[in-house]
Amino acid sequence: MTQPPSLNSPRQSNAISLDRVSRHYAMGETSIRAVDDVSLTVPSGEFLALLGSSGSGKSTLLNLMAGLDRPTFGSIVSGGRNLAELSSLELARYRRNTVGMVFQSFNLLPRMTLEENVELPLRLAEVERGERAARVREALEHVRLAKRTGHRPSELSGGEQQRTAIARALVNRPKILFADEPTGNLDSATGEAILTLLREIQTSMGMTIVMVTHERHLAERFADRLATMGDGRLLSTSTTVARASAQATAEITSHIKTGAGQ
Ligand code: ADP
Ligand code: MG
Repeated sequence: MTQPPSLNSPRQSNAISLDRVSRHYAMGETSIRAVDDVSLTVPSGEFLALLGSSGSGKSTLLNLMAGLDRPTFGSIVSGGRNLAELSSLELARYRRNTVGMVFQSFNLLPRMTLEENVELPLRLAEVERGERAARVREALEHVRLAKRTGHRPSELSGGEQQRTAIARALVNRPKILFADEPTGNLDSATGEAILTLLREIQTSMGMTIVMVTHERHLAERFADRLATMGDGRLLSTSTTVARASAQATAEITSHIKTGAGQ
């Protein structure tokens, strides 16, 4: 009998693995260690939250994982490739095809409709027109905005704009979704709705999510694991209650299914 997927399955692959990663910035005579000797592995399908005070290196680390920047030292392996060794062209392809990115400030293009904003990554990836329409619809359905396709960003609420940005990040069917303070510009109820949506995307699509946030209480409820940074270093990682309860639910479901099959 096949086993249900378990968060602890030893067969599970890793979405991304960092080994002794540093990113130093030269500032005149001195150098800033924005990220300092960080080793961290994110299993496929995990929702990881990166916490830490302002300036602790969270965004720098996220940008390294998303291929927006390169490490000064160390290796970042995803899909069997070390990002530190990719050419600029290969790294651009990684950003386009393998990862989706969501920012605090949504970064939607104001003159374009919601549909056109979401379609943009597909045009850049030269996906053919017929396929594009279907993929845009699918992504907008995931974020429950399929009825608002013709609107411009200014006609949407903050939460709807962030949902559009999430659809745009998903439209290329990435393996990993990165989010840098996605709830930072939203009120608490809307922020919670965005995290509920991210958790749904993780569950329904099997998505790996790495999210920077200031809000530990929300991270505890929605992420599987917390990684806390301080002064560029990874201080600690800990599993959340949300992960423990998801695991318990999976075990109970598998128990019921096994029992019903007998
Ligand atoms: P966080 O996202 O946790 O607030 P950042 O990753 O943005 O922190 O920044 C970490 C440190 O690196 C900070 O001290 C910041 O000033 C510095 N830093 C970030 N980007 C640059 C840059 N392009 N040039 C110089 N220093 C930078
Ligand atoms: Mg930041």
